[in-house]
Amino acid sequence: MKKVTSFHRFMNRRPSANCRYQPTCYEHAANCYTHAFLIAPALAGTALLHRLSADDWHRLTAWVYGLGLSALFLISTVFHVVTWKRSHMREVEHCFHMCDRVVIYVFIAASYAPWLNLRELGPVACHMRWLVWLMAAGGIFYVFNYHEKYKLLELASYLTMGFLPASVVASMNSTEGLEELACGGLLYCVGVVFFKSDGVIPFAHAIWHVLVALAAGVHYYAIWRYLYRSPPDRNACGS
Ligand SMILES: [Zn+2]
Repeated sequence: MKKVTSFHRFMNRRPSANCRYQPTCYEHAANCYTHAFLIAPALAGTALLHRLSADDWHRLTAWVYGLGLSALFLISTVFHVVTWKRSHMREVEHCFHMCDRVVIYVFIAASYAPWLNLRELGPVACHMRWLVWLMAAGGIFYVFNYHEKYKLLELASYLTMGFLPASVVASMNSTEGLEELACGGLLYCVGVVFFKSDGVIPFAHAIWHVLVALAAGVHYYAIWRYLYRSPPDRNACGS
């Protein structure tokens, strides 16, 4: 019995439907630190890709991807810090919670940008370059209008946006990097289990953060190795 009590020190009860989980102070700290430590590496990684860019199109793509990656860790960290100090900042917390959700859509689109922009695509597949941003805009519209109302729909939209562009990437002529992309995708999927396990598994959200960081790291490695370090195929829509 004593063991159970000690275990629950690190985790609060699971909330009722459409209510937010309230982390323990230990979980708050873990949620903050697991993404705070990645802001500087994400910015450094952006600078590296920018430096390796062969032309303006590479440079623009490096900015889009790098800013999406850095924004994910930065906004997540700010949101979790604000949530930790929530007693005086309810409205600010709500605003940053929406930003935390919005940045996930931006991050997914930005993560696909290097593959869609820098690899040769077919005449139909190349439309995924703007479709992925249209999907992100749809997700942002959802957050601003139905934030926290339909959690399963929100999860389904993240998963759809996460996997639909992969069908285009997997059909590219060059298969270099696909293993890393699949590996990162698998880490995100495992992470979703923890994302939905607040109040069931202690530190579930921090574990989700770590798995997101690992997946983003694997994807960054593939982008650096196959699209920036080695000169990628140049492309033109429909060429
Ligand atoms: Zn988080």
